[in-house]
Amino acid sequence: QARHQGGGQVHAYSEALAATAQRRIELEKGLHVALQEGQLQLFVQPQVDMMGRVVSVEALVRWQHPVNGMVDPAEFIPVAEDTGLVVPMGDWVLEQTCRLLSDPRVQQGGYRVSVNVSAVQFQQAGFVRKLQELIQRTGVDASRLTLEVTESLLLQEVEQAIQKMVSLRALGVHFALDDFGTGYSSLAYLMRLPIQEIKLDQTFIHDLTPQSHGAVLVEALLMVAKGRALRVVAEGVEHKAQAQLLQAWEPGILCQGYLFSRPLPASEWLQAPDLSGPQALRTW
Ligand code: C2E
Ligand code: MG
Ligand code: MG
Ligand code: MG
Repeated sequence: QARHQGGGQVHAYSEALAATAQRRIELEKGLHVALQEGQLQLFVQPQVDMMGRVVSVEALVRWQHPVNGMVDPAEFIPVAEDTGLVVPMGDWVLEQTCRLLSDPRVQQGGYRVSVNVSAVQFQQAGFVRKLQELIQRTGVDASRLTLEVTESLLLQEVEQAIQKMVSLRALGVHFALDDFGTGYSSLAYLMRLPIQEIKLDQTFIHDLTPQSHGAVLVEALLMVAKGRALRVVAEGVEHKAQAQLLQAWEPGILCQGYLFSRPLPASEWLQAPDLSGPQALRTW
């Protein structure tokens, strides 16, 4: 009897594995087509200051599948990373991001644009040269471009990664440490990196009340950031109380989250009469 049940579990397990593998194969095939047929879209999510004005946006890729609708990056980015497709996809995202930055209204408004860079993409031998060419070709002010990198990216081939960061810094590009606080590196190590911004991870923001454990940590991180003159962006701000608490601690903080705006198509942001005004946000 026990043996019979065990066999059933193994069977169910291998079926689940096969389904996952099948899904990945479909995603990989689909991503090839998506790249060829222009199914990717550039979305942006505003980052607002204490006055509720948009000062910068984060570029976020979306895949508009003809049958399945909008596919979540959490689902396809890992597949893109494993298959190397994140390289052409990342090239596309960087190109769109630079085009957005070169839009006259974005330039005149002095908006910054952040873009996520994954490890495989960053570790390409020609990444620095590629980005340099793109910056020249699109004529953007590189100091308005922020590359969002994660701690795990920087832990692979550390010396090479830091060398690349230094080369890109020389072009003017900024670096943000994304999902800050979720990794395992010491603060001392992280603070030695050539970064200009930290993004407090959503997990810290979610249960943020003046008395919570997380509050003590966030307050400490804000002090460290201040000491290093780093920009701070809080991710996943959904409630007014969270924003108020963060802004009371650090008036210069930028907030990104559903409270202010959901990600919206970059083209839609560009259509707003005032890119920093309330019409430039999508709050439903
Ligand atoms: P991330 O860089 O940490 O981006 C923030 C994610 O939080 C976005 O999810 C955003 O839609 C979501 N978010 C924003 N505000 C809120 C909020 O108030 N509440 C909640 N619950 N979520 C909020 P998204 O767009 O699904 O992207 C997920 C992840 O996929 C990103 O995390 C990033 O790591 C990756 N990703 C997205 N676009 C790209 C890209 O172009 N290239 C690469 N390499 N990775 C990307
Ligand atoms: Mg990010
Ligand atoms: Mg993040
Ligand atoms: Mg993330």
